[in-house]
Amino acid sequence: MTGSNPFRPTDGGFRWEGVDRMAYKEEGSAPFLAISRQILFADPTLKCELRYFEMDTGGYSTLERHEHVHAVMVFRGHGHCLVGGEVREVKPHDLVTIQPMTWHQFRATKGEPLGFLCMVNAERDKPRLPNDEEMKALRADPRVAAFLDGKPKP
Ligand code: MN
Repeated sequence: MTGSNPFRPTDGGFRWEGVDRMAYKEEGSAPFLAISRQILFADPTLKCELRYFEMDTGGYSTLERHEHVHAVMVFRGHGHCLVGGEVREVKPHDLVTIQPMTWHQFRATKGEPLGFLCMVNAERDKPRLPNDEEMKALRADPRVAAFLDGKPKP
């Protein structure tokens, strides 16, 4: 994917030469909608990867948590994210840090695609999904429930 070519220009449309646009995850492995994944950097001598994820309007990433950390920069569009118990609007170039075992999800809630860069450990644990009890606890906050229903409160 990085290959031997040091230069991989963008086509100006959030795609890069020699970078495949892939499925976000294996279909049916977890809930998500209308989101793609591009691995921008994954050199074997680095212990991290930089990926670009993009959701179509109304799309969302998986609500999950795990031991590894994410360093996220919003790269395209406006939307919302949930981190822990907090829902926030996000805009281009906002930074979002997701600490270990913190629930997180991104949603393209603003009638436009939402894209973000995400740096992550190359070796990492498998994301965990909320069980019924954890989902109930999350939804106890009306702001979080509205977000999870795709209709975040202003
Ligand atoms: Mn994650």
